[in-house]
Amino acid sequence: MFDYSIPENLLSGKNILVTGASEGIGRAAALKYASLGAHVILLARDQERLNSLYDEISDKGYPQAAIVPFDLNQTEPDSYQQLCDVLEDEFQQLDGLLHNAGILGQKAPLESYQAETFNKVMQINVTAQFLLTKALLPLLKQSPDASIIFTSSSVGRKGRAFWGAYAISKFATEGMMQTFAEELYDISRIRCNSINPGATRTAMRATAYPAENPNTVKAAEEILPLYCYLMGNDSKTENGKAFNAQ
Ligand code: NDP
Repeated sequence: MFDYSIPENLLSGKNILVTGASEGIGRAAALKYASLGAHVILLARDQERLNSLYDEISDKGYPQAAIVPFDLNQTEPDSYQQLCDVLEDEFQQLDGLLHNAGILGQKAPLESYQAETFNKVMQINVTAQFLLTKALLPLLKQSPDASIIFTSSSVGRKGRAFWGAYAISKFATEGMMQTFAEELYDISRIRCNSINPGATRTAMRATAYPAENPNTVKAAEEILPLYCYLMGNDSKTENGKAFNAQ
């Protein structure tokens, strides 16, 4: 497990957007960020789940959250720009962006992989991250110290049979992280890094490994020290690196 003792109020006053905040790792990370003083902006499709997280944050007395229902399967750059315009009206700056949303697609050999599924996985796991980051850069540049975290996977660092578009999308995610990291270094105070969460007990993991006993894998809450380290000021000098949460 990544070793980091999380300071209280680590993220005090920061505005942090978390994609895929409605369940799994994204939900746990957003709740943790809020508990450390951040205003979290919760993005996903399922409004009911987002409302329930919003209420939990509010009931616990954490800083006010915001909800952004948004489908990352949208291909139009304008939709991402409109989302950014809405955020700009409410927030002066964005200090953190956790690209966490993702889909698994099919577990099948590439030889028989459906083209439609391939394109959908690449849209949600790769292209949407590009469009969202691009649209949000002006807001991120307003921050004195902004962090963008991309979510990878073991199969995004070494390809594996039958993981299809998912593995390819995670390799592309690492490439996007490295490219943004180099381009933004020197011209901004934005850093970019990636996290491989490792096996984590979520709906996606259960779909990928239906025969696995869920109790043998870590809960999302257990892998968060790295998510906090990379979002807080202690990681100011980290840029362009690939990390493992466990
Ligand atoms: P889950 O399937 O539990 O959650 C996925 C999240 O992504 C949900 O909040 C979902 O929200 C959101 N999402 C999916 N499609 C869209 C869409 N079209 N538009 C907007 N949001 C969307 O996944 P995990 O928590 O397990 O995974 C989180 C990240 O970690 C992913 O990038 C995954 O690849 C990565 N990962 C996970 C591992 C694990 O063992 N769990 C291991 C390695 C990597 P909604 O349905 O409301 O839109």
